[in-house]
Amino acid sequence: MDAYAQLQQCLAEFHQGWNERREYKIRTSGGLEIRVEAIRHPSLIRQLNTFQGRVTARAERGAPNGPGSRPPSSLDALELLHEINTALTAWQPVTVCESADPDDTRACLRAFRDLRRRARWLLGYDPPTTLLDGHVCDHCGGALRVATDWSTDIRCAGHPDTPPCGTEYSRWQLAVDHIKELIP
Ligand SMILES: [Zn+2]
Repeated sequence: MDAYAQLQQCLAEFHQGWNERREYKIRTSGGLEIRVEAIRHPSLIRQLNTFQGRVTARAERGAPNGPGSRPPSSLDALELLHEINTALTAWQPVTVCESADPDDTRACLRAFRDLRRRARWLLGYDPPTTLLDGHVCDHCGGALRVATDWSTDIRCAGHPDTPPCGTEYSRWQLAVDHIKELIP
């Protein structure tokens, strides 16, 4: 898929929503059976518009509000909506033009992927992530991103001017490699 098609797919999540395939298991007389259901999610813009704030388990326990530990509020959602609207206006010449400069299309895709990542985190689809210091992607040399609580595997985050190559690394493998380095 070229950058323009990826951009249209990304923008569709902001405007139209997206489908997610979810597998779940049920117990039948014949044992465990895997069922598949398709879930339709409303657009990110609509979800941000109706977002009422989120209470995390950590906030409920009364932990101090360290960086990143404060649960997102409806005001955060409004601020992000404002940023999305500004980006949609600023990038409009690129988002509606298939023959735009490829560099512009890639920069635009990066901007909207970043907004999508923040929206998904705010709405609770994904955990907050951080860039991993001291490691790069074996395939493309890009930066690597992981959940701040290490609840996800490590994903390629690409370079400033190239999108992620899609490679994922097991966080357990990284831990094992790290331990091996410590042993002479
Ligand atoms: Zn990569």
